[in-house]
Amino acid sequence: MRTHAVSVLAGDGIGPEVMPEALAVLDDAVAPHGIRFEWHEQPWGSEYYRRHGRMMPTDAIETMAATDAVFLGAVGHPSVSDVETLWGMLIPIRREFDQYVNLRPVRSFAGISSSLAGDPEIDLVIVRENVEGEYSEVGGRAYRGTPHEAAYQQALFTRFGVQRIARYAVDRARERSGRLVSATKSNGIIHTMPFWDEIVAEVVARDGAELELESVLIDALAARMVRAPRSLDVIVASNLFGDILSDLAAGAVGSIGIAPSANLNPERAFPSMFEPVHGSAPDIAGRGIANPIGQIWAGAMMLDHLGYPQIAAQVEAAFTAVIGAGVVTPDLGGSASTAEVGAAVRAALA
Ligand code: ATP
Ligand code: MG
Repeated sequence: MRTHAVSVLAGDGIGPEVMPEALAVLDDAVAPHGIRFEWHEQPWGSEYYRRHGRMMPTDAIETMAATDAVFLGAVGHPSVSDVETLWGMLIPIRREFDQYVNLRPVRSFAGISSSLAGDPEIDLVIVRENVEGEYSEVGGRAYRGTPHEAAYQQALFTRFGVQRIARYAVDRARERSGRLVSATKSNGIIHTMPFWDEIVAEVVARDGAELELESVLIDALAARMVRAPRSLDVIVASNLFGDILSDLAAGAVGSIGIAPSANLNPERAFPSMFEPVHGSAPDIAGRGIANPIGQIWAGAMMLDHLGYPQIAAQVEAAFTAVIGAGVVTPDLGGSASTAEVGAAVRAALA
């Protein structure tokens, strides 16, 4: 029996509603293979913040470091600022565990029509740089209270950082169609983006010479994603560009309730973190109607990362069948509850 310890942070709002469904699906998925999960559930998030004045305890990173992965639901509450949730929990985890890859698969499903003309079949992955780039702490405000008041923020790209995200994207492109698109804006952002382009081209020339690399301006790429999404397969992008593109892609295929995301440390020196793309959805929390597929799909990505790609594929096939059969929550036009969708996925697995 192989055992994997996983830190489970269900969090706030619909997080604690969708998490049990995902845990039950994962337990069922691994059981026939002599694998067992040990769920280390932690009560961190906005409720914890209200009682302790912080999102998680001071030794939280150490506690999670002793486990194989972090499985997150959603954090956020109308009474706690977004800056607090992001900088008090998500960003420290990504940085302390050097989760420099944000991987977001996006695909269409039979049974969910996309918002794009012609309802094209979409199947792509976005590889977003997750720890540097435009989201830096370098900057400031000046001349406050004068007519010259100003703010400035420096984007920070390192050779090391761009090389490693490019290498990761090359590996993904190799496994898929062999086509890699790199998002850039080197015509307008004349220092960091040419640096990004140069390094991506070097890495592809050295490690993926057989790949077809296209460097596409982010504005044109956004238009292409809605006009010709089938021409895209693996996209590598900086922190900001990747953030925007992945929401654009997820929005184009349908509900935010199904999209997953992985924050990876590919070298496995630290635990990686898996989470649905959606937030705590306070508008529907407590009603038992949240879509659990995003959480379940994130769980499938965790299985893949832990070394079980075949079990991950079984889980994906199970929820794909359930969506196709129309057993879906109201966000996808159905009338099933969170628990009914979870049960249907487990039944499809069996
Ligand atoms: P947060 O501040 O935690 O990010 P939010 O309200 O800003 O929360 P989301 O939680 O992503 O952002 O919600 C955006 C919209 O999508 C809401 O109307 C919400 O009800 C809906 N939504 C999000 N996740 C789901 C889900 N799993 N099932 C159904 N609807 C969802
Ligand atoms: Mg939000």
